[in-house]
Amino acid sequence: MSNLKDKIKLDEIVYSDHFRTDGFINFGVKPDLSNFRIPVSIIEGIKPGPILLIDACTHGDEYEGTEAIIKLINTIKPNELTGTIVAVPALNFEAFANISRSSITDEQNLNRIFPGDSTKYITLRLADIYLKRIVKFVDAVITFHGGGDVLHLEPIVGYLPGGDEVSKKSFEMAKIFNAKYTWRMQNLPFEGVSAIAYRDMYNIPCILPEIGSHCDRLNSREKNVGLCYDGIMNVMSYLEMIEERTQEKVDSMDVELHYIHANNGGIQRLLKKENDIVEEGEILGEIIDVFGNKIEELKAPYRGVVIGFWSISVIRPGDWWYLFAKILD
Ligand SMILES: [Zn+2]
Repeated sequence: MSNLKDKIKLDEIVYSDHFRTDGFINFGVKPDLSNFRIPVSIIEGIKPGPILLIDACTHGDEYEGTEAIIKLINTIKPNELTGTIVAVPALNFEAFANISRSSITDEQNLNRIFPGDSTKYITLRLADIYLKRIVKFVDAVITFHGGGDVLHLEPIVGYLPGGDEVSKKSFEMAKIFNAKYTWRMQNLPFEGVSAIAYRDMYNIPCILPEIGSHCDRLNSREKNVGLCYDGIMNVMSYLEMIEERTQEKVDSMDVELHYIHANNGGIQRLLKKENDIVEEGEILGEIIDVFGNKIEELKAPYRGVVIGFWSISVIRPGDWWYLFAKILD
């Protein structure tokens, strides 16, 4: 019915009705003759409007966004929707299925290699085909991340830094998402991040919510999935894809996130916890060896707030230890 279907073409359709299409994009045949593939659902509203892409599991162990996407596509009513939702519940489907942050086949981290390359390793091919066959046709993106299996993270929504219109729209989307922290994604210690590539290549605004972790799944799994779901609905309301929603605004803080690595392996102790405001020079954490000797102490490099930390008792040299943030507002 819309021309979006002429643009985003699925290689395999497993369900289709007037409003919804579920299927796969294939991007490589494995030796066992199964395909590498991307699962995609397209939900078209009765009125034309923005095309919103929502994906999760760029890192295969970050499932809160995945669950929220599944909830969304099975509850949204086409007659209440303006525009189109393109949902990708598990972008790195291989990593998702193997409960792994990175790809299994080539061990690549999908969120470090955008825009990818159609002639190289399979994960680079995944990034490339995702951009060319899906991302370039949409108007806005929500790409979900989280603490996965080894970190704890407080709910934080990344947005594009910069004064251009696309970055400003990304900031608006991050604020309306309604999480405890907004994160200006500047001074990142790595390259190849999807959200930045979408802007640089196609001028598409994107936000990157980091919500939930294995550490939090015992008691807060549903709550965190709900945060993701509400965030999507808030952004859809901002984009005028659904009716305006009234949700109590959380008191949010704008930050610049830094990743502080451990220098030594051992047993790590967290002396400062999530949401703690820490003065420069205060001790964040310490590491002891198996004999109980203290071998490392981490001092806060500036006054900031603890967003997250390594959530496993044992830490290895070089692992992320604290996700510590400068307060911007
Ligand atoms: Zn991630």
